Amino acid sequence: MKPVVCKFGGSSLADGTNILKVCEILRSDPARKYAVVSAPGKRYSGDTKVTDLLYECYREAKEKGSCAGTFAKIRTRFQSIVDELGMSSFNIGAILDETEKQIDEKKSADFTASRGEYLNARVIAAKLGWTFVDAKDIIFFKKDGTFDEEKSYPSIAARLKECDEAVIPGFYGTDAEGNIKTFSRGGSDISGSIVARAVNADLYENWTDVSGFLACDPRIVNSPERIEVISFKELRELSYMGANVLHADSIFPVRKGDIPIKIKNTFRPQDPGTLILPSKKYGAPGNTVTGIAGKKDFTVIFLEKSMMNGEIGFARKVLSILENHKICFEHMPSGIDTLSLVIESRYLNGGLLEELLSEIRDAVHPDYVRVLENIALVATVGHGMASSIGTSARLFKALSEAGINVRMIDQGSSELNIIVGIDNDDYEKCVRAIYHEFFADKKN
Ligand code: ASP
Repeated sequence: MKPVVCKFGGSSLADGTNILKVCEILRSDPARKYAVVSAPGKRYSGDTKVTDLLYECYREAKEKGSCAGTFAKIRTRFQSIVDELGMSSFNIGAILDETEKQIDEKKSADFTASRGEYLNARVIAAKLGWTFVDAKDIIFFKKDGTFDEEKSYPSIAARLKECDEAVIPGFYGTDAEGNIKTFSRGGSDISGSIVARAVNADLYENWTDVSGFLACDPRIVNSPERIEVISFKELRELSYMGANVLHADSIFPVRKGDIPIKIKNTFRPQDPGTLILPSKKYGAPGNTVTGIAGKKDFTVIFLEKSMMNGEIGFARKVLSILENHKICFEHMPSGIDTLSLVIESRYLNGGLLEELLSEIRDAVHPDYVRVLENIALVATVGHGMASSIGTSARLFKALSEAGINVRMIDQGSSELNIIVGIDNDDYEKCVRAIYHEFFADKKN
């Protein structure tokens, strides 16, 4: 039987009561052999995550030589977790003493931040009677700071083969110098995905506090539909455009290994959740549109030049100007004599936009340059769009009926998405109009 790797997020592990739920979930299916855990998150709105308290400990240790003030809060949190779990014989006090000493000595932000996951994994492993496997011994980073797959995968596989069941702290590993290094915030999702890939899991279950991905932002549309099945490619498009349940980088390890992900809700384990499938296993999509997501605050630089299509190197010259300024562009819709660059406005502050425009004018001598600011992008995503006639007609009709002026259109080359650029002020109205067209009336 291939194992299932489960990752539990901070809200699922915020206190002893929640950890008991997690233990029940893990014990309810023998395929769930490996658990990757986050640090305890917020217990209520306004509470502080343990990871944030730890960053505070780091600052305190650096400034005052000791993190004792803030570490007292960490101590209380873990002591109460252990009490709630009824683990009176587990000596959390000694582990906390040792951790506090190390934080004061090492004065490393990454080491300090990683201790939330470390401590939580120690407690949960002891509660379950499973093996604690420290991420520092199995997950490695290269000299350039990127994840070292060649070293990590064999070492995770070999170590976990020795254990019937194991609990592994998420979020960190060891760098090329042997020091603890963390992934970016929310990185336990990445650790879980790496472990799933290393053991060639049947499934990567990502347990959180929502019952899956929603078809669009619930702050814009009231109770949108849950997405039952989504492909990795669709997920990438939607999460890039702002739909976030999973850390964006966590998709890659499992995707390479063709391992599905399931998003599940720790507080409603009976809910089916969202299944994320590799393209091979995805099959024929049931819906035309899978989801809608978007972001505000883009700038579009529109260039026009007669006979641009015959001018070799036009796009390269424009793009190397962006490269020299280390600016990424999001989209580059083009016509015979036109080329537009869509760039996040935050990259163009402080006079950089004017500088870019003057360099572009010098390099390619366009006939006409126009800049559109305060543009929002809304992506309508779904494999089903490629095979259903009239999808774009429906989409644009819905937008025109809602009185929305479309400033830019870009259809991805895979026919997986249609992206419209609209004024920031129309953003919410646009998402609602598309949702109502494809979901609310059940015409999808
Ligand atoms: N605890 C870390 C954070 O808050 C990592 C994680 O939870 O995934 O970012």
